[in-house]
Amino acid sequence: MRPPTRLVHPPAASASGAQTVNPAIQKGSTVLLPDTAALYDDDAFVTYGRAGLAAHEALKAALCDLEQATSVELYPSGVAATAGALLAVLQAGDELLMVDTAYKPTRRFCDRTLARLGVQTQYYDPTLPTDAIAGLMGSRTRVLFLESPGSLSFEMQDVPGLAAAARSRGVLSLIDNTWGAGHLFKPLNHGVDVSIQSLTKYVGGHSDAFMGSAAARETGIASRLQAGVVDIGWSVAAEDAYAMLRGLRTLDVRLRRHEESGRAIAEWLLDREEVAAVLHPALPGAPGYEIWKRDYSGACGLFALILKPAPEAATAAFLDALEVFGLGFSWGGFESLAINCDPQLKVRKFRREYGGGLVRLHIGLEDPADLIADLERGLAAFQAAAGG
Ligand SMILES: *Cc1c(COP(=O)(O)O)cnc(C)c1O
Repeated sequence: MRPPTRLVHPPAASASGAQTVNPAIQKGSTVLLPDTAALYDDDAFVTYGRAGLAAHEALKAALCDLEQATSVELYPSGVAATAGALLAVLQAGDELLMVDTAYKPTRRFCDRTLARLGVQTQYYDPTLPTDAIAGLMGSRTRVLFLESPGSLSFEMQDVPGLAAAARSRGVLSLIDNTWGAGHLFKPLNHGVDVSIQSLTKYVGGHSDAFMGSAAARETGIASRLQAGVVDIGWSVAAEDAYAMLRGLRTLDVRLRRHEESGRAIAEWLLDREEVAAVLHPALPGAPGYEIWKRDYSGACGLFALILKPAPEAATAAFLDALEVFGLGFSWGGFESLAINCDPQLKVRKFRREYGGGLVRLHIGLEDPADLIADLERGLAAFQAAAGG
């Protein structure tokens, strides 16, 4: 072969045959097929790299096992997973019942894209009894969307009851289960049709990659999800699939540490005079505790606190005094983070009056004593700014 051809087709390196415990990071758009018949045999062969190669296959298999699913689709982010799952099952003229405490970008997708495509969204209050939410399902309702606990405000939903109510009316149930990470709560075992999560959070666990997943058990729903991914052309990089798989290996031990530190800090906050309430579903006596105890095998490190009534500047003083907690969105990584939530609550239809500022904390893997010292610093600044 001449030099230009040799550059494109170098002599094949002999396969080493070494068996590693992890899959290869195979990068490839082109997949070489053995013969002409195989070119169009989509059932027998992966014929194009967009569908995913070794690391993707290994990740999907692991997520199927985690979610107790028969099929899992991967998306380039959690937002894409939510959008993708909704697009896969909805059509013009349908109505979507969406929890009012949904992650804010989910709401934006409903209000902008789904509205433009002729899907109407009705928001419901997650604190309504199950019967009352079931009563909102009409003849055009196609999907009931849950997120439990609710974003920022941590309302727990009666997932098995709501999933059963939806099913008996021919309505599909979808859940954003990012808080449960597929590990602390298994939605498909509780009658939910599609379990969605942002793998960016706890599964990745290191704040360095984006991905989302949608898991299903019934073949009809699974094939709709798959067709949606194929039609829109979503694809994720092999390195990112590998990173998610690596995160999965330590998910259980990390979550235990997040839970333990999170509980210790939540209990410490409960005793502070600057704090009006702690919204942590796994704290006995907290809102949603009974549901959490019934349905979950553990808690993660994400919860919120309500400060005593004070001017907004006092909430800012609290956050700005923190040195170990970073100020930033996202969660599920190794690092502790804090945000004030009030600007995000304004878009909700059923707004609750908390009296004071709502602050969300993500408790990371630091030593909890350092986090408590940091919060002590923040609360002192809050007290000073609140006027004593
Ligand atoms: C972060 C988050 C998402 C979106 O995930 P990305 O991977 O950041 O797109 C979806 N739902 C919840 C509850 C989240 O916290």
